[in-house]
Amino acid sequence: MTEDFYALLGVERNCSLADLKQNYKRLARQYHPDNKETGDENMFKKIGEAYTVLSDPQKKAVYDRVGHEGYAQGGARYGGGGAYNSAEMFGDLHDVFETLFGSSGGRRSRRNMRERGSDQQIVLELEFLEAAFGGLKTIKINRLINCTACSGTGADPTVGVKTCTTCQGSGEVKRVTQSFLGTITQVSTCPTCSGSGTIIPSPCKSCSGKGQIRQASDLELKIPKGVEEGSRLVWSQKGNEGRNGGPAGDLYILLQVKPHARFKRDKLDIHEEINISVWQAILGHNLEIETIHGSQAVELKAGLQPNTVISLSSYGIRLDNGQSGNHLLKVNVQIPHKKDVPKELLDLMKQETDPEKEDKNNSSPFANFFRRNKDKE
Ligand SMILES: [Zn+2]
Ligand SMILES: [Zn+2]
Repeated sequence: MTEDFYALLGVERNCSLADLKQNYKRLARQYHPDNKETGDENMFKKIGEAYTVLSDPQKKAVYDRVGHEGYAQGGARYGGGGAYNSAEMFGDLHDVFETLFGSSGGRRSRRNMRERGSDQQIVLELEFLEAAFGGLKTIKINRLINCTACSGTGADPTVGVKTCTTCQGSGEVKRVTQSFLGTITQVSTCPTCSGSGTIIPSPCKSCSGKGQIRQASDLELKIPKGVEEGSRLVWSQKGNEGRNGGPAGDLYILLQVKPHARFKRDKLDIHEEINISVWQAILGHNLEIETIHGSQAVELKAGLQPNTVISLSSYGIRLDNGQSGNHLLKVNVQIPHKKDVPKELLDLMKQETDPEKEDKNNSSPFANFFRRNKDKE
């Protein structure tokens, strides 16, 4: 069906604006509904639309680019009914038409339009180990779903949705004025129904006329291994339901990870600090370290220095892709308080650190140790 706007107005693609206007005036008189012999309301509307588009350089440019079929399908989104698939294909186009053509592309307002539901975000708090190992977690959501009592229309089901009496369901009102061009019919959106063509005399009691209600439900969420504080999971179409058959929005899950008493995360590594006594540092010590993958024997060699970091390779976070971090053990050496040191030992230490007595202490078991350090200075 060729209803190309250029053909409709009987002009060439590169015609002047003056020619366009002249042809439009002639045809408008011919098809005007008031004209008893040749009047045709449908044709009158069509040439009006064609003229609106072609006389505006911006709209004309879009029309030339997408062609008549593209224009018709982009506009069809407003039409409701079976046009949804093509409307989806022309999603981007729809925006162009909405911007450039305003309501000229269709006859129905947003009330009947397919509408994507809004996204929702929840905050989910995880234990340290839950974040490390992932797994299934039940989450509670409270999303908007379409009201079943009124099928999302918002109208009391016993009364239903009525045709707007102001516009008889067309969604637009006409105003006829006289001008030098002859009779002009101005078409505008119906103020009573905002262009939807329908009114709701009595709102649905279940949803207070909103068409949607909030519903709490539980979802089983799969948490991947090794998720981090502040990361966000997206669950497609688990947000609020869409209106008029539109898709649901997405559910965003913002993750917060509770701190652990002993462990700290840094990407895939797990950090832990332990305290040992100065005696353990001097003599060496064997430990059992609890990692997230179970306990692990660690040998601290004699003479260990404070703040030494021991790495337990791949005992950190292990991802499914084979990547893993380390368990990093930082060893703090604690110096005991004087009162906790045996008196004999304190006496020995006093003797050894007194420079005047140095030579007299050759018999001390520490003599070699202190002397060696002094020689280094
Ligand atoms: Zn309802
Ligand atoms: Zn109306």
